[in-house]
Amino acid sequence: MAMIAFKRLLLNALLIPGFPASLKYVHRHCATVFMLHRFQDRDRGIEGCEASHLRRALTYLAINNYEFVSLAELFDRLAGSGPQPSGAVAFTIDDGYVDQATIAAPIFAEFGCPVTTFVSTGFLDGKLWFWWDQIGHIFENSVRRSLGVTVGEAALDLRWDSENQRILAQMEFIEKCKLVSQAEKSAAIARLAEMAEVEIPENPPAHCAPMSWQQLRHCEEMGMTFGPHTVSHPVLAHSTFDEARYEISESWQRLNAEARNAIPVFCYPNGGWCDFGDREIALLRDLGFLGAVVGEPGYADAMAFQRAQDGPFKVQRFGLPDEMPHIIQYVSGLERFKQMLRPGR
Ligand SMILES: [Zn+2]
Repeated sequence: MAMIAFKRLLLNALLIPGFPASLKYVHRHCATVFMLHRFQDRDRGIEGCEASHLRRALTYLAINNYEFVSLAELFDRLAGSGPQPSGAVAFTIDDGYVDQATIAAPIFAEFGCPVTTFVSTGFLDGKLWFWWDQIGHIFENSVRRSLGVTVGEAALDLRWDSENQRILAQMEFIEKCKLVSQAEKSAAIARLAEMAEVEIPENPPAHCAPMSWQQLRHCEEMGMTFGPHTVSHPVLAHSTFDEARYEISESWQRLNAEARNAIPVFCYPNGGWCDFGDREIALLRDLGFLGAVVGEPGYADAMAFQRAQDGPFKVQRFGLPDEMPHIIQYVSGLERFKQMLRPGR
């Protein structure tokens, strides 16, 4: 209890003007890179980060003189060109959904805050819609309340009587799909659709739709930059070498053909430490990439970036928290301070 009260006291102290700035020295080698995904758009039935929350976060950072930095500039500074990152903040968005263009881009432009969006090019090309959205569509539209289906070696016996249970069953299926090859994942989704008696439409429903290439270029005019996030968003570690090479190089080529100023920074699908490896880093190096971002929580640390040979290809990000004190905990360096105090360092 006492620990919880202390933590709450500390988080509230972060809201006192001037206090967070005093922590900046703690992470002078570090920047905070935030990662966002969906933005709430009730007209399209999209749940996600609310516009008011994003504005509140950007307002706080602006009035407290946090430096907004573009991802491309941050990579240069992490590499040692120009001033140290010293508490700078960069924003990234993953995937290329329509709300990222219609809701997020104008808000970042309002604040003059750079933001980089990583897009899966097959999605913007209208050749596919995301495999996890297809799974969601199957579960949402099935009249069944139980089914048995295999994914690789796993035999799943899924049952749901409520919305919560349906979401859990859906998540269990999605998590299993992240562990198998691209071919097995496609086959498993086809089996799921058959068992659930749901047809998968060729085009995504409105809440799963991509931004268009035209919208992407309009976002560029507003200040958003773009990086590649594969063609079809597979887990690269479970792809063949040819698939991984195609997913990385084709998405880079397509993005360069459509965008005016794509940045040579990659974003691994799923983004966990197990979701990519030395093979992907070598492919990215061959294509001339400056580096890549992961989805594992942590600071973008210039020391780690320069010390390890693959440091530029493992730049960490934090999901943007739902609550302001937690956002402040990251940008102020308090989280860094806590990491330093943790045993085992
Ligand atoms: Zn993604």
